[in-house]
Amino acid sequence: MTPSTNPNPSKLAMVPFVSVDDMMKIVNTIGAPKMIAEIAEYIEADFLRWDMFDKTPRVAAHSKEGVIELMPTSDGETYGFKYVNGHPANMARGFQTVTAFGVLARVDNGYPVLFSEMTILTALRTAATSAVVAKYLAPKNSKVMAMIGNGAQCEFQALAFKEVVGIETVRLYDIDPAATEKAVRNLSQSGLTVVACSSAQDAAAGAQIVTTCTADKQCATILTDNMIGSGIHINAIGGDCPGKTELHKDILLRSDIFVEYPPQTRIEGEIQQLPDDHPVTELWQVMAGQAEGRTSESQITLFDSVGFATEDFSALRYIRDQLERTGHFVELDLLADPDDPRDLFGMVQRASME
Ligand code: NAD
Repeated sequence: MTPSTNPNPSKLAMVPFVSVDDMMKIVNTIGAPKMIAEIAEYIEADFLRWDMFDKTPRVAAHSKEGVIELMPTSDGETYGFKYVNGHPANMARGFQTVTAFGVLARVDNGYPVLFSEMTILTALRTAATSAVVAKYLAPKNSKVMAMIGNGAQCEFQALAFKEVVGIETVRLYDIDPAATEKAVRNLSQSGLTVVACSSAQDAAAGAQIVTTCTADKQCATILTDNMIGSGIHINAIGGDCPGKTELHKDILLRSDIFVEYPPQTRIEGEIQQLPDDHPVTELWQVMAGQAEGRTSESQITLFDSVGFATEDFSALRYIRDQLERTGHFVELDLLADPDDPRDLFGMVQRASME
């Protein structure tokens, strides 16, 4: 075989890369509410083919400051993973609490087919998941949501519940008034009625849905039992690590609890406060009609959200499908792929002669 002068001639191995800038362009081209609703459809579709996925609790490296996690899954044709951190002290140091990137790859040859930023995409997919779940569990015709914790995830959640669930009013509370002011400002053109509240209890008053989305590396009590009346749907997002919860245990004992993947949620979710055999319902079963969701007006439903790998897989699948539609990506020379697969060294050598 004649050696090629191009060090990496086929370029078949170029990998589409969606940068933060590209992701922002994609969001602004499609529109955040529409994009969240579209991602929600992908997430629901993947929950409905639950058996096809390889599933494992995420692989976590804990430190006193936070956690770094890998979240892999595969549907047999495509493999995906997300790298994500959670560092509650970051915000005070001027860093994001959560940052992420992810990859999709072909299972048949292992070649990546997408490399993407996922800090923004995680916020979109978390909001989309919350809203899909609320479709099944929240009281019918819910119009008011309390949003406790007004950080990076907040506006995405609010928009998702407006678009997918039909929420008309959000009642915001954060221990830091600057966070609430930011969210009020960012949601001013959203079509939502936005109310800044003076306490978590004030925010929860009159809400049919209560979302908790705070970050603290400890077992916190964002909601106490007296704040949660009958018939409420709780969308608990912030408790997603061992030793990091948001709800008083008494609320869990009064609620019907719904989870993504029990082996992961038992480690990371609110239910780490309960015995290992405490009954929970898997969301995919509710979506597939194999288990009941909300069964009465007085029932308290709790989505003990921790974020599962299939949701990231769905979000990445969605982004891959938008590449042609939006054109917002660059080709990344990520894989060394010599014409003669055995001539990796020769490819390096030829590059020095160029
Ligand atoms: P962030 O740091 O941007 O915002 C957190 C907000 O919570 C801050 O504004 C902070 O002031 C506020 N807060 C802290 N303690 C509070 C309290 N006692 N009462 C009211 N507000 C309080 O973080 P973020 O990116 O918005 O993420 C929020 C949480 O959600 C994090 O714990 C993160 O790990 C988690 N998260 C979960 C998922 C999931 O899939 N379940 C996905 C993304 C993030």
